[in-house]
Amino acid sequence: MSKLVVMKFGGTSVEDATAINRTAGIVQGRRDKGLTPIVVVSAMAKVTDQLLSAASAAGRGDRMGALAITARLRNRHLETACALVAQAVGDCSLSKMIDAEFDSLDEILRGLASIGELTPRISDMIVSVGERLSSRIIAEAFSHRGLDAVHVDARKCIVTDGQHGKAIPQDAAIELRLKEHVLPFAEAGRVCVMGGFIGATEKGVTTTLGRGGSDFTAALVGGGVDAGAIEIWTDVNGIMTTDPRVCPTALRVKSISFEEAAELAYFGAKVLHPATILPAVKKNIPVLVLNSRNPENEGTRITSLAPYCRSPFKSIAAKRRLTIIDVVASRMLMSHGYLKAIFEVFDKHKCPVDMVSTSEVSVSLTVDSNEKLPEIAADLRQLADVKYEGRKALICMVGGNIRGQNGIAAQVFQAIRHVNVRMISQGASEINMSFMIDEDDADEAIRSLHDVFFADPDPEIFDVEALKESSLKS
Ligand code: ADP
Ligand code: ASP
Ligand code: MG
Repeated sequence: MSKLVVMKFGGTSVEDATAINRTAGIVQGRRDKGLTPIVVVSAMAKVTDQLLSAASAAGRGDRMGALAITARLRNRHLETACALVAQAVGDCSLSKMIDAEFDSLDEILRGLASIGELTPRISDMIVSVGERLSSRIIAEAFSHRGLDAVHVDARKCIVTDGQHGKAIPQDAAIELRLKEHVLPFAEAGRVCVMGGFIGATEKGVTTTLGRGGSDFTAALVGGGVDAGAIEIWTDVNGIMTTDPRVCPTALRVKSISFEEAAELAYFGAKVLHPATILPAVKKNIPVLVLNSRNPENEGTRITSLAPYCRSPFKSIAAKRRLTIIDVVASRMLMSHGYLKAIFEVFDKHKCPVDMVSTSEVSVSLTVDSNEKLPEIAADLRQLADVKYEGRKALICMVGGNIRGQNGIAAQVFQAIRHVNVRMISQGASEINMSFMIDEDDADEAIRSLHDVFFADPDPEIFDVEALKESSLKS
């Protein structure tokens, strides 16, 4: 098996000097086992959000607001970097690079504020600063701690198309670039460190892979170099039975199939980016989700086949900020070509649809709430009457064992009997059961469902030991 292991550290795992030092220790641990890590890092926690705020402030003409944000970011990066290499901010070896990056960022923001128009291309340019800086700081910090690290600019490797904000990676080109820019270092036993989330077109224009996209980078790199494993290091013990922030009794899932994990990620489990799994599935590379604050924990293993589980569900995800669009046509009565015409409208606006339900005269669809909705509705009104309603959440219950089990739906709807359910779907994949409710009811519904379906968890699949330990403590 390949000795290459791709290790991706998310924002909280690199949020400050303490976290970055912990990361270095984890990477060293893999080296000690004879593995060669290729490290993919996110921007430091919250930096991407702040860069986006700076960009939109400048786009509205608020130059002072934008520059105030970058001034704070500049200090945070300088302080972290200098603490890591044990130098004072004044004489820190990394500070020239950091200052130069922020000087040119401020230049862009000033220009943007006077033009007053933020394009997706400029937004990508601005937001990429987070990963460009974190990866360089972390490579230097690793070297300072005696790890033989080398920084690789991800934009040289992750070749994408030009869809700014959600660019599509070009697998074949990426594989070639990794052979050129990463493998020679890895084969020499060096630790490559690159930023996640960012890429560039063939012409070298900076792009990004969508929010949470560093996981995707890790999977692309893992697939491209045929790694033996891909490790996603985050701030929880692995994939849990639901978001632990919503439900504190959530349990770690020890093992889950690619299919189940992909479904969960797509339907809102933030712990993994939806597209992460695909490059790994294609090459059958195991993916592990691990906790950088608790590296001894064995985490979640994502494999092609999950072992048998006696519970119907593995996990509950929620996708929020959705809108339901009802298209009601009394005239056309599902005539031939009608659905096609509806979907063409969504296609025209490049707007993905999550769920669809149809009746004789109406079609309901759900989409992410977005600024294009009025235009989409206007186009749909050419075909039929249209209503839309925001602030909805899609609750998605995932598990390989719902296939062919009787009475599961009755149990689900009994658990949330006080909630108004708008649309229901048992996914085409047969491993998910989803329904749409008001966003305000989502947390309560998740907790009720969790109480019912994880009351007696299968110890082969779920970490029930943690549950026993926490009840002993309390
Ligand atoms: P990172 O910065 O490491 O990429 P994210 O914030 O993107 O981390 O993802 C980790 C967070 O995902 C956790 O802190 C948790 O609140 C949230 N989360 C949502 N659903 C789940 C789930 N089913 N299992 C684990 N974490 C989840
Ligand atoms: N920094 C990016 C984001 O916050 C990518 C990532 O962390 O995965 O979306
Ligand atoms: Mg993430």
